[in-house]
Amino acid sequence: MDLLKTLSELPGAPGREERVREFIDARVQGHADEISTDALGNLICRKRARKDVKDPKKVMIACHMDEIAFYVRQIDDKGFIRIHNLGGFDTRTLFARRVRIQTRDGRELFGNLNPSGRPIHLATEEERKKIPKIGEFFVDTGLTAEELKGRVRPGDPVTLVQEFYEMGDLVTGKCLDNRVACWLGVRLLEQLGESDYDIYVVFTVQEEIGIRGATTSSYAINPDIGIAVDTTLAVDVPGVPFEDQVVALGGGTAIKILDSYSVSDKGLVDTFIELAEKHEIPHQFEILPLGGTDAAALQRARGGSRAITLSVPTRYIHTVTETVHKRDLQATLDLLRKYLEA
Ligand SMILES: [Zn+2]
Repeated sequence: MDLLKTLSELPGAPGREERVREFIDARVQGHADEISTDALGNLICRKRARKDVKDPKKVMIACHMDEIAFYVRQIDDKGFIRIHNLGGFDTRTLFARRVRIQTRDGRELFGNLNPSGRPIHLATEEERKKIPKIGEFFVDTGLTAEELKGRVRPGDPVTLVQEFYEMGDLVTGKCLDNRVACWLGVRLLEQLGESDYDIYVVFTVQEEIGIRGATTSSYAINPDIGIAVDTTLAVDVPGVPFEDQVVALGGGTAIKILDSYSVSDKGLVDTFIELAEKHEIPHQFEILPLGGTDAAALQRARGGSRAITLSVPTRYIHTVTETVHKRDLQATLDLLRKYLEA
């Protein structure tokens, strides 16, 4: 799990995925026939089909590198930094968090994130009930406005800090949405045997703010088949009835039927189910009422492609305690390999 730990702890705000990209780029050298980065920052790794296959079909696998994060918006005269969010945060999970600011000189600055207002000891009854809006949060770096001048400026990315660790068969950390897919993409390139398909593993950018990287890269590649790898909601926790759990942690890879952005290709759903049954790979079905993945862009690329999402069940999504089961991670990798090598 060292690879996933490194991926989880790297910062990668939407539009500023370079640290994640550089790490993956170095890691996959020698494991792809062509590696390139496009204008938006998508890392495109191509593995050609077996030589004797005529006109191989193109399969694009999308693994987004970005994480929900912030950019510095303004600095007040006391040195408190106001931020702008990229991606959907539940502000109740943002109290008393440690954050990292990537400054333009390449150095990092750490600080504390908190909402403005009075602490509980002084808060009125009304104030205690209030859930703060994202715009009310600020970062305290311990430095004065004067000391911050020339070091931090608007647009510097701010990401949450959290150590990755193992808990039994589970692993937990920040942005496992979607570094589990980055892990899987790297492992796939390292382990994949010969295939009848021309395979493009694309580490995409800016998924969390509207699947932007997948939109341009799938247009350029124009795949016949598109597979997004992402996380999905495992809400199998206290306080949530069975009918709302979406998927179960440890229940295997989740074959997506639909979410609010795409309906998976029926042929692909059937094929993945058959493969999972044949090879006894733990799997479950996913119907997600709200949300989407890079599959939505894959499906709509140019004249369209047959697309699906394979999801890794994840508890506490969009918090720094995102948690997945090692078995589900392995099942997702196994199923994808069986499909590509079949
Ligand atoms: Zn995601």
